[in-house]
Amino acid sequence: MEFKAFLIKYAEIGIKGKNRYMFEDALIRQMKFALKEVGDFAIRKQAGRVFVEAKGEFDFDEAVSALQRVFGITGICPTIIEENKDFDHLAEVCCKFIDEQYPDKNRTFKVYGRRADKKYPMNSMEFSAEMGSRILDAFHELKVDVHHPDILLTVEIRDRVYIYSDILKGPGGMPIGTNGKAMLCLSGGIDSPVAGYMIAKRGVRIDATYFHAPPYTSERAKQKVVDLAKKVSRYAGPINLHVVNFTDIQLAIYEKCPHDELTIIMRRYMMKIAEHFAREGGSLALITGESIGQVASQTIHNLAITNEVCGMPVFRPCIGMDKQEIVDIAEQIDTYETSIQPFEDCCTIFVAKHPVTKGNLKIIKRSEEALKDVIDDLMKQAIESVEIIRVSE
Ligand code: ATP
Ligand code: MG
Repeated sequence: MEFKAFLIKYAEIGIKGKNRYMFEDALIRQMKFALKEVGDFAIRKQAGRVFVEAKGEFDFDEAVSALQRVFGITGICPTIIEENKDFDHLAEVCCKFIDEQYPDKNRTFKVYGRRADKKYPMNSMEFSAEMGSRILDAFHELKVDVHHPDILLTVEIRDRVYIYSDILKGPGGMPIGTNGKAMLCLSGGIDSPVAGYMIAKRGVRIDATYFHAPPYTSERAKQKVVDLAKKVSRYAGPINLHVVNFTDIQLAIYEKCPHDELTIIMRRYMMKIAEHFAREGGSLALITGESIGQVASQTIHNLAITNEVCGMPVFRPCIGMDKQEIVDIAEQIDTYETSIQPFEDCCTIFVAKHPVTKGNLKIIKRSEEALKDVIDDLMKQAIESVEIIRVSE
């Protein structure tokens, strides 16, 4: 018995009226995006459910893992669709379904019949009871348990008949595009791709900004960031990756500011530039992979100083996580192996041996004064020379 269709379950809480259409349309759009490499599928909504039906050959496991990357889906039910509603025929199909899906019959079951087609000659109760007894007749080892069955065989009688028993877990969250857009500061590390994934999971579309410093950082380091953006886009949909040449700003900071403050000052300019592209592209917030205390630039003193330049909210979903917890998610979303490739995302000459851990905003601002003759031009050049790469899996 081959599954050609999936019934998609999604959390419906709080999505009534107009929001419901927006939610479902965004869900369907993202499902199409996820499934486009897997095969040809028809996706339609019907009476508060979404069905996916294969129009040709496809790989079952690939289809399931594609759907498991669509935020908003809570469950994926591999489904058999029958045109013929005749009860005897359906009983045969249901018995075959149970036989093939559950080779070990030492289990309990329940039939959950739902008659949405009111012209059908049996009501839901009659259908369930009669189908249950047909299945019992066919397999004597099975037992009925109406409260906690091992197998819940659902049969929905609609325009056609939909039969399923298994619910594979979806990723949860909200469909991409239902909660606006945010700009991810994406480096080649482990944390920022995870941060992007976590915010995308709330339905937020993602753009990204990467700061590189050629020739101090290599072309290969940039490619690694493009690869990471691709991995994130498997969940988040297409990403406009802004690649900003940061070399001259970094050199100016290196030349004119105290070396133990380099990272903080550099981070402040990164945030300013990211915010510029955020506004330009309609993003309402920034996202970083920062986590309290992970490195010197992420003490709360220094986070506060970095934050001070931002006029929009900065989302830091990794903020309270241990490194291992972030790594676990990176592995789950398949960014980890790419993140640990050994290409520096920032040349070591720009990293002080003893960076300030308790930065003081007044002092940092005073240090930044040394840049005042050059920084506006340098920022302008960096912004104007941006390369925008449309990244899509
Ligand atoms: P990650 O593993 O995400 O790179 P990290 O542990 O290396 O983070 P930092 O280098 O201090 O930490 O960076 C903190 C955050 O600042 C990153 O998560 C990212 O959001 C942003 N960031 C750092 N470097 C860059 C860069 N070159 N381009 C864009 N964003 C950056
Ligand atoms: Mg980093």
